[in-house]
Amino acid sequence: MSTYQHILVAVDLSTDADKVLAKAKALAHAFGSTLSIVHVIEPLSYAYGGDLPVDLSGIQEEILKQARQKVAALAAKANVPDDRCHLPTGKPAMEIQQLCEKLKVDAVVIGSHGRHGLALLLGSTANALLHGTKTDVLAVRVGD
Ligand code: AMP
Repeated sequence: MSTYQHILVAVDLSTDADKVLAKAKALAHAFGSTLSIVHVIEPLSYAYGGDLPVDLSGIQEEILKQARQKVAALAAKANVPDDRCHLPTGKPAMEIQQLCEKLKVDAVVIGSHGRHGLALLLGSTANALLHGTKTDVLAVRVGD
């Protein structure tokens, strides 16, 4: 029986996403694990507040469309089928954590840092997952 039967890799679609995915792919190959991908869409209203007097739905739809294309391109590199690509909307750490539980994954692979910057020793998402999930967490060192 493999140590990790199902691994989830979280990609933020930054330039480091390829490196994170490559490590996850190698890990899944080594253990003969199923590999799933998650990219969380952060609603524009989180960044700009919910009471903006403009309709952001068109822009949000375009963001989702482009994210789907980028995730599909990454998935093709790692031979991950469509039905194992997840694009929930919300706060990244929370959505990734919920998906870990829903998919019953054994390990989650993330970048040590991402678009949220290098201010912390570990990025905010990596930190939140280490504290918030019971799943093993592999932080691939990026951006240093
Ligand atoms: P950060 O918290 O921005 O420093 O990001 C650290 C890592 O968390 C990234 O390298 C990704 O693996 C993951 N991550 C951050 N934001 C997202 C997101 N929106 N969707 C999926 N994974 C994410």
